[in-house]
Amino acid sequence: MTTFKVAVLEGDGIGPEVVSSAIKVIKRVGELVGVDLIFEKALIGGSAIDQKGTPLPQETLDLCLASDAVLLGAVGGPKWDDLPTDKRPERGLLGIRKALDLYANLRPAKVYEPLIASSPLKEEVARGTDFIVVRELTGDVYYGEPRGIFLQDGKRVGINTMKYTEEEIRRVVRKAFEIALQRRKKLTSVDKSNVLEVSGLWKTVVEEEAKNYPEVELEHLYVDNCAMQVVRRPSSFDVIVTGNLFGDILSDEAAVITGSLGMLPSASLGEKYALYEPVHGSAPDIAGKGVANPIATILSCSMMLRYSFGLTKGADIIEKAVEVVLQRGYRTPDIHAEGCIKVGTEGMTEAIIEVVEELWH
Ligand code: NAD
Repeated sequence: MTTFKVAVLEGDGIGPEVVSSAIKVIKRVGELVGVDLIFEKALIGGSAIDQKGTPLPQETLDLCLASDAVLLGAVGGPKWDDLPTDKRPERGLLGIRKALDLYANLRPAKVYEPLIASSPLKEEVARGTDFIVVRELTGDVYYGEPRGIFLQDGKRVGINTMKYTEEEIRRVVRKAFEIALQRRKKLTSVDKSNVLEVSGLWKTVVEEEAKNYPEVELEHLYVDNCAMQVVRRPSSFDVIVTGNLFGDILSDEAAVITGSLGMLPSASLGEKYALYEPVHGSAPDIAGKGVANPIATILSCSMMLRYSFGLTKGADIIEKAVEVVLQRGYRTPDIHAEGCIKVGTEGMTEAIIEVVEELWH
């Protein structure tokens, strides 16, 4: 039997609750599809600060480097808010992303029909929205040199450098084409090549790579136009690929269309390693109450099955089960509506496992 080892970093707040729920679901799916999933826990964030004095202990890093995938809950909370920036729980996140060389961040934006009223868009516009933003994570204006605030003729000047190497563009663009191949085979590349040379190179590399993926329909959009089209015709997108800065903004814009933070999964992929986590934070206001919505983390695990383990059938079943459970009216308090069945974290998890089994048989 094939074995996959998952490093489990629960983190803080609702992290342990939603992670344990997601593990129950993929454990069951693993049994059904016939693979052995092994889970090993390590500390990150505030709980790591409390027990080890650092947000990212070396043993956590070692475990992640020796695993097939990493599952992360969330980090942070008021208890650690007064620590200096370089000692805060969020440092653990930055550290792990860097150590694993994760260069492609995937954020799906899917509007579920039973939750369509939560979208800030008109129903007829939001209906059928199901796309993924692939954001480059390691380059662009966040890392380019020179950077800083300098004095020029006695006046302050702020400088950042937008920079991409050909290889940095090519590897994330390839990932996006590969993802499009597994979906509806449509890729939108977003840049600002009418103004920026770095975007000109981006577009050229995308065109070069497109030759290797003739089945994928490719469109180019300028970022300002894309920001408009994402709210005008969200259901027309399949995969959007873009640089770090544009992706930062577009992925949050895409998230808000779905209307529910507790439903949003994410994946960060590198060549060797991958990390899966919900988009939401540690929600200290509801931690320990058993009411957190586990769906974002469960869907992050379905991305793990799809992108790290190649278990497409298992991933499809989890995603379908989430849809069915919502259709049957199960809701955690964050997505509750009149006439629905209110459940907590455990109730939602059990309902999803039940449907997974139904779908399998
Ligand atoms: P948050 O995402 O934790 O919470 C925002 C609101 O959404 C809260 O009202 C919360 O109760 C609700 N919410 C979030 N996830 C939910 C879920 N699964 N089910 C039900 N309701 C949910 O954002 P915040 O309040 O700005 O941040 C809280 C802490 O989390 C801070 O310390 C912040 O730094 C940290 N944070 C961590 C991450 C991460 O680990 N990746 C991301 C964002 C924020």
